[in-house]
Amino acid sequence: MYKREATSKIVPWHKALYYNVLPEANPASMTRRRILVPFKKRTHDHRRCVDVALAEAESACRHKGLRFTALRRRVLTLIWTRHAPVKAYDILERLGREGRRAAPPTVYRTLEFLLEAGLVHRIESLNAYVGCGGAGTPHVGQFLICRRCSAVAEVDTPAIAKALAADAKRLGFRADRQTIEVRGLCAECNKVA
Ligand SMILES: [Zn+2]
Ligand SMILES: [Zn+2]
Ligand SMILES: [Zn+2]
Repeated sequence: MYKREATSKIVPWHKALYYNVLPEANPASMTRRRILVPFKKRTHDHRRCVDVALAEAESACRHKGLRFTALRRRVLTLIWTRHAPVKAYDILERLGREGRRAAPPTVYRTLEFLLEAGLVHRIESLNAYVGCGGAGTPHVGQFLICRRCSAVAEVDTPAIAKALAADAKRLGFRADRQTIEVRGLCAECNKVA
């Protein structure tokens, strides 16, 4: 395992049920359902999505006293290339083509940083990453994944997370992390199906 230097200021995530909760988060305030990343039209202005995501990431890092280095920014930008999961392998390849010789452990460490800082999520079923639509706000995301175009939407339904946490507790189960991924067809793909 690699060191976790830069993220030591964040909550001890391995002990936290809510993987993406800020240290100062108040669970009582997590009741509102939100759509953090909707399915976007193919024609939408994606540059704006990237700009907003980077600005939010920068402010979230500043707020938590974390360094948003050039590599972290670049990897986050690559993850935001589109609204679909990106694999670590693709990031490595892309950085290599750009002439940034980033060793795999460095890239994995960067991904781990982005995860722990709540800037990206890991889609476990695909072993890939998506940008978080609510960086800087406490939530446990749930993911809708289109099996045709790979688009991912992120919603935040605290009632689901809370109900599962309560059931786990009743069973004496100590949950480390919750990942809820729903597969299907997005609205656009459903139209042509
Ligand atoms: Zn977009
Ligand atoms: Zn999120
Ligand atoms: Zn689709």
